[in-house]
Amino acid sequence: MNTDEVPYKTYLTEAELPTAWYNLRADMKKKPAPLLNPGTLKPVTAEELEHVFCKELVRQELDDTTQFIPIPDEVQKFYRMFRPSPLIRAYFLERALGTPAKIYYKFEGNNTSGSHKLNSAVAQAYYAKAQGLKGVTTETGAGQWGTALSMACAFFGLDCQVYMVKCSYEQKPFRREVMRTYGADVTPSPSMKTKIGRAINEAHPGTTGSLGCAISEAVEAAVTQDGYRYVLGSVLAQVLLHQSIIGLEAKAAFDKLGVKPDLVIGCAGGGSNLGGLIAPFMGEKLRGEADYRFIAVEPASCPSFTRGRYAYDFCDTGKVCPLQKMYTLGHDFIPSANHAGGLRYHGMSATLSELYDQKLMEARAVEQTSVFAAAEQFARVEGILPAPESSHAIRVAIDEALRCKEEGKAETILFGLTGTGYFDMVAYQKYNDREMGDYIPSDEELAASFAKLPKV
Ligand SMILES: *Cc1c(COP(=O)(O)O)cnc(C)c1O
Repeated sequence: MNTDEVPYKTYLTEAELPTAWYNLRADMKKKPAPLLNPGTLKPVTAEELEHVFCKELVRQELDDTTQFIPIPDEVQKFYRMFRPSPLIRAYFLERALGTPAKIYYKFEGNNTSGSHKLNSAVAQAYYAKAQGLKGVTTETGAGQWGTALSMACAFFGLDCQVYMVKCSYEQKPFRREVMRTYGADVTPSPSMKTKIGRAINEAHPGTTGSLGCAISEAVEAAVTQDGYRYVLGSVLAQVLLHQSIIGLEAKAAFDKLGVKPDLVIGCAGGGSNLGGLIAPFMGEKLRGEADYRFIAVEPASCPSFTRGRYAYDFCDTGKVCPLQKMYTLGHDFIPSANHAGGLRYHGMSATLSELYDQKLMEARAVEQTSVFAAAEQFARVEGILPAPESSHAIRVAIDEALRCKEEGKAETILFGLTGTGYFDMVAYQKYNDREMGDYIPSDEELAASFAKLPKV
């Protein structure tokens, strides 16, 4: 190991931190398709969206031409509590693999919420406060987004109402208590508090809920209370914009080292960390200034990119959100109950969907037992206990490093380590007890779900 080559960790100084987010859509010649009003099937207007979302966030959502959007001072200050995040050279993983590849990862788990979600939560809470709102509503699946948002709301003095998918609410009581400690009100979804929740409970008695269902409840709660708006932690273009802080910092750190990655890898649930990580690199590729390979990694049990359709679909079960053109498995698709590894959303960011459709990015689906094997290998040599979601990226980073070994190539690989896995110990326990299986949906199962796509 030649440790004097580059440092184990590269940090930016406070003076080097980005002061503007990068809007990747500005550099796309063919833009993502517009969001449609689910009633009229016409492109949604800012006015329609402002009933549901904060005004400034609507402006960001619809802006696909401004390259750089300044990060408000208050948000920059909050970022300094937990940023910059380190760019780490995985010397010990390289040694364990015996690969000539140079592996780097950008670690986003160094904050109480344990993931990159805080990058967007603080921005969204800031704009809600600036608009004079009382509070925000949201959904959370595994709980990372709800935790991040409750931290941000506590900081800005906003009320925070979280609809948490019922099976997580029951399986992850500690996540729930972290949110409550930050002052959030947490409701298991589907609940009896909303019309849509009552309808879902009636149609599917005993259901343990889904993200799509919790989104519908949170949207209804926002539009039926004065001074509240709905916020979302992934999928939307505004969230990718805020997450560009990850890629901007990574790019600046690489520039400091005089290193250029060949390959950038990230896990993809709704696409926000991946979209943020690749943003400045993809920008260079789009402008013809440099070339990179990008790989999105998704679970084989929820394969939106690799087996989904590129079509307009609903973002939620209750069909209250705008229609988005994206790679989707259908809004009714719910991954098998044995799937423990996160990344269970049926759709994907419209921006990433368009880039994938233009073949500017690759995608790979991986099975969860191989994901946990990668997580275990990584934890034992690099020390960090990774989130199952992040471990999808680790799996493919390892596979690519082993390919480099076979081909005798010293490629530089960057992957996003989005968070830590301390609240995922039930999943790790299943893996350790060899009780974890793999599930791959059948073509028939997917066809049934595609049949319910809206006709647009
Ligand atoms: C939410 C989450 C993801 C997936 O969300 P994206 O929007 O696809 O980034 C990945 N990793 C962690 C740790 C998360 O909390």
